[in-house]
Amino acid sequence: MEPLRLFIAIPLPEPLLRQMAQVQRALEKQMPAGSVRWVNPEGIHLTLKFLGDTPEGKVPAIRDALAAVARRAVPCTFTVGDLGCFPNLRRPRVVWVGVQEPGGQLQALQEAVESAMVSLGYPREGRKFSPHLTLGRVRDSVPSRDAARIGEVVGATALGTLGEVRADSFALIRSVLKPTGAEYTPLAEFRLEG
Ligand code: ATP
Ligand code: MG
Repeated sequence: MEPLRLFIAIPLPEPLLRQMAQVQRALEKQMPAGSVRWVNPEGIHLTLKFLGDTPEGKVPAIRDALAAVARRAVPCTFTVGDLGCFPNLRRPRVVWVGVQEPGGQLQALQEAVESAMVSLGYPREGRKFSPHLTLGRVRDSVPSRDAARIGEVVGATALGTLGEVRADSFALIRSVLKPTGAEYTPLAEFRLEG
């Protein structure tokens, strides 16, 4: 059987997704044509853990582990705003909107999910958790002048705060990669009950 490409993420409210689509359009106008592959705004989410290829038979154990995490995890509120690029503005690969939750509960949730998945055999993420919402990815073929321009636009755009999101659930999501972009299907949703 084909493995499933899976990840764990917090879904976002519709009105925020519409705002994200507006931000994408505003940025696109200022950037070199075709230089960024914008993500489908309906699918924008806050990734907690990328699992990747997973045998279908492992899904029940993942669900059980995530349900146990959710029983103990505390809901929190995060702020969405400001723009940035990974790895940085001089070498932009990913254009994102930032997520801030100074209380540490979002970080705690991510760590709980991470540990639970490490126990199931997934490699621990080497990088520190940088919560973000991906708006688009810079195409590999983009000449360095165009990449520089993308970084300039992102650096010069004062987005401010777009909104606050109550995080009271997360989801196990399947991703199917298509030439037109990834298609996401939620397999299970877990309410934070802590
Ligand atoms: P595409 O790969 O076609 O650009 P996508 O990145 O939206 O689409 P996936 O690659 O399936 O779709 O990724 C699903 C989610 O997991 C996204 O939030 C993505 O940023 C994140 N992700 C993907 N690969 C990794 C990885 N190696 N490490 C951490 N997060 C990842
Ligand atoms: Mg990807």
